[in-house]
Amino acid sequence: MSSSLHGRRKAAAMPRPARIRRLQPRDAYAALAMTFAGGMLFVTSVPALAVTATAQEPVADIYAPAPVEDVILAAQHLDIPEEALAATMPTDAYSVEVAPPPIQSSVAGLGEVSLLKSDLVVWPVVDPSRTSSGFGPRSAPCAGCSTYHDGVDFTPGNGSPVLSIADGVVVLATENGGGLGVNVEIQHNIDGELVTSSYAHMQFGSLAVSVGQSVTAGQQIGLVGTTGQSTGPHLHLEMFRADGVRFDGMAWLHARLG
Ligand SMILES: [Zn+2]
Repeated sequence: MSSSLHGRRKAAAMPRPARIRRLQPRDAYAALAMTFAGGMLFVTSVPALAVTATAQEPVADIYAPAPVEDVILAAQHLDIPEEALAATMPTDAYSVEVAPPPIQSSVAGLGEVSLLKSDLVVWPVVDPSRTSSGFGPRSAPCAGCSTYHDGVDFTPGNGSPVLSIADGVVVLATENGGGLGVNVEIQHNIDGELVTSSYAHMQFGSLAVSVGQSVTAGQQIGLVGTTGQSTGPHLHLEMFRADGVRFDGMAWLHARLG
């Protein structure tokens, strides 16, 4: 279709401007009179019961729903411009924020780790009957060794598996633990109490877990060795409360395992 033809047709269809007659006062009076007459007619022709809320019978059919066939169901229609449909967000126009990982601390008791509560506790070695040094004051076993033993020493033999004492999350797993040598720390929620266990002097290359990993009670985390400040193959186990204070892990384990 040419635009000129379209323009002519449009002009031809345009109605001629009508003459505008100003509204006269007598017109308004006539309209008012008509309205009043109509109102009077309505009031006198509708029964009083029809507008009474307490009527027991339906006397006015204006409350009845209109029959379905009388309702004209006009199909609704919405025109959407094509450019609106085609507009998609380019994938590089926004970035997705990944939820930050839970805060974890290698400082015993200070980690804010979501831990599953469990009351299952096991010994950290297969044969816990062989021990060499208990928790507390002692005569230093070596030059530079502490006179106060911060943990308990198990001597099940070089290369024996070292096991997590309970379900938990690994908060430290290193081969450079200083005097502790190859060292793993695991935080546990044992029946509602936050407890951290630390396993020291394990063999180089024996680490079986990494930081952030969830472990289960009895899961192997390494092998007994003599790394760090150690006079012979043994597992040095330290245990901490939520406040970071060490306690006697042997007494604690015996209380639960007999
Ligand atoms: Zn020790």
